[in-house]
Amino acid sequence: MTQLPLRAQLASVLGRTAATLSRVTGRGDGSVIGGRVGLVLEPDLLKQLARDRKLALVSATNGKTTTTRLITSALTELGEVATNAFGANMPAGHVSALSANKAAPYGVLEVDEKYLPEVLDTTGASVVCLMNLSRDQMDRAAEIWLLAQKWRRALSGKPTHVIANCDDPLVTWGASTAAKVTWVAGGQRWKEDSWSCPECGGPLDRKGVDWACRECTFHRPEPHWVLDDDAVIDPRGDRWVLDLQLPGLANRSNGAMALAVAEAFGLHVQSALPRLREVTSVAGRYTTVQRDGRAARLLLSKNPAGWLEAFDVSDSSLPIILSVNAQGPDGRDTSWLWDVDYRILRGRPVYVTGERRLDLALRLDVADVPFQLCESFTEAFNAIPPGRLDVIANYTAFQQIRSEFGRAV
Ligand SMILES: [Zn+2]
Repeated sequence: MTQLPLRAQLASVLGRTAATLSRVTGRGDGSVIGGRVGLVLEPDLLKQLARDRKLALVSATNGKTTTTRLITSALTELGEVATNAFGANMPAGHVSALSANKAAPYGVLEVDEKYLPEVLDTTGASVVCLMNLSRDQMDRAAEIWLLAQKWRRALSGKPTHVIANCDDPLVTWGASTAAKVTWVAGGQRWKEDSWSCPECGGPLDRKGVDWACRECTFHRPEPHWVLDDDAVIDPRGDRWVLDLQLPGLANRSNGAMALAVAEAFGLHVQSALPRLREVTSVAGRYTTVQRDGRAARLLLSKNPAGWLEAFDVSDSSLPIILSVNAQGPDGRDTSWLWDVDYRILRGRPVYVTGERRLDLALRLDVADVPFQLCESFTEAFNAIPPGRLDVIANYTAFQQIRSEFGRAV
């Protein structure tokens, strides 16, 4: 690998010093501050750090942290991989990730959907993985359409190889200006944001997994890879049972995407799949924590589509704690709670907590789901008899619960 120019070397070293200081003073995990310092000193730093590496960028509304982790695990089969494992998914986080592992010939970067065009331009990444686009807490349908349009512009005219989920019409539209696309039928649980054609606004007809616009030629492309229940069918027609340790359909979809990305790096399923199976939890998600004879599995859910995925993973025979906050990273507006169908929780012991527990309580009441309102997570936890339980929390609520258990997870 070629040496970084002197200024970039200096910026990178100072950035790492800032990151170390941030960690030892307990101000954070250092993955953002280091990158910010580096970028101020050398605005071109990300570009220079990306040079001479083969990079994959991973973007979506849901599942990008997990998929980044799965791809990283697969690519270690080829060599060292630099990655932003803690979800610091904007340019400062990317600088930190690449600075921390300068010798790695490979990089896998989780990228915030809105930053994808900028990061793609800057890094010239050769592979981009696009999974799903749906409303986040604050966004509305028009905003995600604009986002997909920006993806189209960013991908147009570049040699980037895109791996995209063709079961999501908006992702398909966003990816289809790329020079080379590998389509993965990864499934789509949340369809509420894709009833109309992104190309012409006409109605989308759905028949089984297939979809097509009634008024123009836009339709679902023929997939190269297919997620088929618990297995993946590769482009040669071979069927591979995934058998991941991460639970649920959404993670099998993430696994299918990861296998297609690995193959874009020249890594065959046979070598990649065992590495995917080694991943057991991602930044605390899906981890089981134990206390006082209770074993709680932690599920993170940041938006309506995420709640459906969490319900899918959750064991319907167990008690469940739901915790909702509305701090900055969660979005202050909790009106999205009305987009989620909570009726699936009927018949389970449900405990409601978090700063916005009253918003959630009202929502559950309207859905005829009985629940117990609790002042704190600990109160809810202690109200449940010893044994197994599930916890679904949104972003800052999840982090609070993790720190209660010492972040050992
Ligand atoms: Zn159309």
